[in-house]
Amino acid sequence: MTAPIVVAIDGPSGSGKSSVSRAVARELGVGYLDTGAMYRALTWWCLAQDIDLTDGPAVVAAAEDFPLAIGTDPDDPRVQVGDSDVTTEIRSERVTAAVTAVATNVGVRPVLQQAQRDLIAAIAEDAGGVVAEGRDITTVVAPEAPVRILLTASEEARLRRRSTELHGRSDDSAVAATRDQIVQRDRADSTVSQFTTASDGVVTVDTSDLDFEGSVAAVLAVVRERVRA
Ligand code: C5P
Repeated sequence: MTAPIVVAIDGPSGSGKSSVSRAVARELGVGYLDTGAMYRALTWWCLAQDIDLTDGPAVVAAAEDFPLAIGTDPDDPRVQVGDSDVTTEIRSERVTAAVTAVATNVGVRPVLQQAQRDLIAAIAEDAGGVVAEGRDITTVVAPEAPVRILLTASEEARLRRRSTELHGRSDDSAVAATRDQIVQRDRADSTVSQFTTASDGVVTVDTSDLDFEGSVAAVLAVVRERVRA
């Protein structure tokens, strides 16, 4: 029997992290964990409960027992909170605008990080491996993972991609509309996680000049090399 493989991937918005991580998990035949979806789901839950996001202890209390069920199938990673399927709603502008307030709450992070460690161990066991992606997986959540990758891309490439995702185009006005949201969120997220330069032992994959298939192939090449080593 081979040991389950754990692949940790971090990166900023628009690096292609989520779609590439899902494709890599599919290709390897293992499970997938989107840790950003956990911060988003907690944000959705706090908003639904009318919890004031500036009330730090109230948000920590919510993090400690919100009824999250996170899907780990890379083909259909559904997110459920209580009886509500929030897969689509956690990507709404309302949640996206509020998520940083939750993710920069220093009392919330250890609670979700521990939940993520437990999930990574359980998925790896059940599915023979896991690709886990976020902002602090290579550094804090799973620094001992055998494969750790920082997926980066130039700001221009990231803005172009996000703009196409959000507005269906990447002309100057669409990019300008995307810029504030992306740059501000990454700046705020950088105050609590280090995802712009690779820590020791973390391999950087720069996707600025790669298309989607090329990005997936580059990540798989790192995984295969690490596994051989
Ligand atoms: O990756 P995604 O954009 O869905 O992440 C949403 C937010 O969740 C990020 O902007 C960040 O605030 C937070 N996050 C985090 N740590 C992670 C993953 C996401 O703080 N590991």
